[in-house]
Amino acid sequence: MADCIFCKIIERALPAKIVHEDEDILAFNDINPQAPVHVLFLPKRHVATIDDLDDPVLLAKLVFAARDHARKLGVAEAGYRLIMNCNPDGGQTVYHLHLHLLAGRALRALG
Ligand code: AMP
Ligand code: ZN
Repeated sequence: MADCIFCKIIERALPAKIVHEDEDILAFNDINPQAPVHVLFLPKRHVATIDDLDDPVLLAKLVFAARDHARKLGVAEAGYRLIMNCNPDGGQTVYHLHLHLLAGRALRALG
């Protein structure tokens, strides 16, 4: 997608602090971190939202990559949050599917 900033990061046309890469997934630090650990995990192929995703295996790969990264950073036992925003009411601002990993501080319970 020519006008997608996350596709540009995947193509290395824009910079990012990349922390994980495999065949299907790229992960990099969020530019505006909301916690000491704030990493975005995204599929290398452009999918706009979770509502557009047709591949449950790809979703599982994103979740497991984030989980494994939390373990690698040593924050899994203390805890972390995985978030995926969808469309305007969900607070999505970048329309290339991504999973947020937040950790390193106590996050407020929802509601
Ligand atoms: P969302 O609101 O779920 O769509 O999340 C988009 C996230 O992307 C936000 O947390 C932004 O801070 C982050 N973001 C936007 N542009 C960049 C960028 N160039 N590099 C890293 N993170 C970014
Ligand atoms: Zn994209």
